[in-house]
Amino acid sequence: MQRGPGPPKENIMIIIVKKGASESQVENLKSLLVSKNIDPHVSKGSMQTVIGCVGDVAHIDLGLIEALDVVESVQRIQEPYKAANRKFHPEDTAVDCSGVKIGAGGFGVIAGPCSVESEEQTVGIARAVKAAGASMLRGGAFKPRTSPYAFQGLGKEGLRILSVAKRETGLPIVSELMDFKDFDYFDDVDVIQIGARNMQNFNLLKEVGSHTKKPVLLKRGMSATLQELLMSAEYIMASGNPNVILCERGIRTFETALRNTLDLGVVTMLHRLSHLPVVVDPSHATGYAYMVDSVAVAATAIGADGLIIEVHNDPPHAKCDGVQSQTPEMFSGTMERIRRIREVVK
Ligand code: PEP
Ligand code: MN
Repeated sequence: MQRGPGPPKENIMIIIVKKGASESQVENLKSLLVSKNIDPHVSKGSMQTVIGCVGDVAHIDLGLIEALDVVESVQRIQEPYKAANRKFHPEDTAVDCSGVKIGAGGFGVIAGPCSVESEEQTVGIARAVKAAGASMLRGGAFKPRTSPYAFQGLGKEGLRILSVAKRETGLPIVSELMDFKDFDYFDDVDVIQIGARNMQNFNLLKEVGSHTKKPVLLKRGMSATLQELLMSAEYIMASGNPNVILCERGIRTFETALRNTLDLGVVTMLHRLSHLPVVVDPSHATGYAYMVDSVAVAATAIGADGLIIEVHNDPPHAKCDGVQSQTPEMFSGTMERIRRIREVVK
């Protein structure tokens, strides 16, 4: 159910194409739609082909389209998102992160410090998480901090350090982009993180969608509904970048015992609503290192496509998020349990 103002309902429609329809039949159908002011997007799956239609759909006579030989069925869509919608793209999407596949059976663990503090720290953690079986390295260079007096990250120098760690370990790197003006420094970054605080920075989403096809790890805003998260993914996708990974990191509720409130049912719901992969962040979701292991295991069991976990060599002295950071030893134990759970659920 859609709450609050949104795009007019029923301006999106999908056409399920009959099995065995030829390329030219599909092309003819597309031309017909274009002549009716519709923008058709074809998604060819191994099971079925669907055409997502955006535009002047309200004026289309569904009966007319349904009567066409090539058409199996036509449906108007209530949800305001299209590219991210499972109805438009029935099969799971795998996002390729420089060789690490996330989604559609691909599972990856992104691990590393909340923020890059020094070369020694980052390379050391990178080696440790790699040895434990992590598939990517995380590290914030541009940090969104609640206080202007807190450590703001090393910026460009932080990204240089991440590149060194990548060269040393071969791990693809994930780092947060807060402002598009810094995008040129992100050449060597494999996955661009959009943080919770920027989930609805629509200009940033549009820039990231139109200037790059690099995977984007889109974190759920602290008070964002799932529909708002999917609309933010839609901004990136509609601007030209289909490689979006959704990240559930908990939301703010009346509860204060944990840093955030994590509803793991979200993973199942997002998989129902969307074909995009869903990664869970047990570190920001709980705020406590001792909770990360059990929540990471539970997220894996419920079917998350990956995890992002904060790991620090010296949590008490971390410049950011030390309380929720696992030590490399803790992380190694968690990886072992995740592997065992994966054997059961995959
Ligand atoms: C982070 O990943 O360190 C971070 C700031 O996360 P979030 O945007 O989810 O708060
Ligand atoms: Mn953090």
